[in-house]
Amino acid sequence: MEDVEQYDLVGIGTGPTNLSLAALAEPVPNFSARFLDARPEFRWHPGMMVPDAGLQVSYLKDLVTTVDPTSRFSFLNYLAENGRLFRSLIANRDRCTRQEFEQYYRWVARQLPSLRWNRPVDEVRLRRNRLEAVSGRTRYSTGSLVLGTGRTPALPGFAEPLQGPTVLHSADLLHLAPKVRGKDVLVVGGGQSGAEVVNYFLGPDRALPGRLTWISSRVGFQPLDDSPFTNEWFAPDYVDHFHRLPAERRAELLRHQRLASDGITESLLEGIYQRLYQLDFLAGAPLQHQLLTGRRVVGLERDGDRLVAAVHNQDLDREEVHAADVVVFCTGYRSALPACMDPLADRLLNARGELEVNRDYSLEWDGPTGVRIYVQNMSEPTHGVADPNLSLAAWRSAQILNAITGRKVYRTDHETSATAWSSGFPPPGAPPSEPLPTVRSI
Ligand SMILES: Cc1cc2nc3c(=O)[nH]c(=O)nc-3n(C[C@H](O)[C@H](O)[C@H](O)COP(=O)(O)OP(=O)(O)OC[C@H]3O[C@@H](n4cnc5c(N)ncnc54)[C@H](O)[C@@H]3O)c2cc1C
Repeated sequence: MEDVEQYDLVGIGTGPTNLSLAALAEPVPNFSARFLDARPEFRWHPGMMVPDAGLQVSYLKDLVTTVDPTSRFSFLNYLAENGRLFRSLIANRDRCTRQEFEQYYRWVARQLPSLRWNRPVDEVRLRRNRLEAVSGRTRYSTGSLVLGTGRTPALPGFAEPLQGPTVLHSADLLHLAPKVRGKDVLVVGGGQSGAEVVNYFLGPDRALPGRLTWISSRVGFQPLDDSPFTNEWFAPDYVDHFHRLPAERRAELLRHQRLASDGITESLLEGIYQRLYQLDFLAGAPLQHQLLTGRRVVGLERDGDRLVAAVHNQDLDREEVHAADVVVFCTGYRSALPACMDPLADRLLNARGELEVNRDYSLEWDGPTGVRIYVQNMSEPTHGVADPNLSLAAWRSAQILNAITGRKVYRTDHETSATAWSSGFPPPGAPPSEPLPTVRSI
């Protein structure tokens, strides 16, 4: 006999994105929500929680602040409640580590009664004009489902059969803890994850690899573009503009904007450069290293105890071979409909196998009226480069909550940009026309 529970909203997955939604939904009166996650507790990319990894956005881009700075679930309130606001300001100034942000997320998660852990959702189906998320013996029934299941590590197909402690994706770095001391190590990928993995391997002298090769398909080891006008791509106004563009233009823009999301933070580049200098000239060169650009790994095979990577040198248009003991692929993540949605996939994916995401983050489908499926962190092709990032997480959650409740629970439409995304002169510095509503006033 299965149990059936009814909610106004059911969230699948409780990473930062749906945690934000849960925090924003918490004070809404007469509204029931349940968030289900497969994990036993909140964790934030634990396989990549390397020491000192820095948050890549301002800590004000927390779960709530950009839409409700008065929320008790803000990062600043976390610091204050835990008696470390002044010490944090002195120690960190405007920076924050991923480790501390995970602690903050866990602090919020402990206060939200709507969350349930150890609840993997195996299947979502449509029954009697309601969506049902099935986890074990319980069916969570709702008219509004929000998918927050995150992205999947993208390991190249040729590496999959070799996956293990010597061939891995960066997402498993700390889980599989490859033994690299004195070994020949190949790191594939010149983005932030690649840089974090290289920096990790360059850690204490006693654990250094014997040889380290770092390969990037880009023209160099390039910095994250964190400049002000680029950052306007990570602000609400740009989403409206981007969503209205034709699909081909959106895809072209995303290709141009890559370094705004996938470049390497300048402080990390400096740290790696300084460490290599120190090893080469001050520490007696205990590590041989080669940093290679313009190269793409196109194959990998095992040869006895060794791994042999086939590499295409894009500058010279020729094939190269690189042997190693350990290969770490820092090849990013891909967005996909989670397997639990398979029963509805035919109705959600278009002829090209893509989701069609409406401006309010609901999916286009032929389901019953009023039955909606919303997505978090799955709409970069339609909503822009900021979608997988934390910058708009609270704002997107507020938009989803407004759409589900049919009310302006949070105000999301009054921010402006310095860049005129569409032509015309808006009144400079025009104040918001309406006062900010509070959740308590509805
Ligand atoms: C290493 C790393 C560092 C990052 N650092 C930053 C940063 O500093 N700044 C920034 O802006 N962005 C950063 N990002 C990008 C982005 O902010 C994060 O990926 C963020 O975790 C996305 O949150 P999410 O909730 O969408 O997904 P996730 O954090 O991946 O959470 C998804 C959750 O869904 C659960 N789940 C999946 N399937 C099911 C199911 N069927 N049933 C139940 N539960 C399920 C999982 O257990 C998981 O808890 C980083 C990404 C990575 C990989």
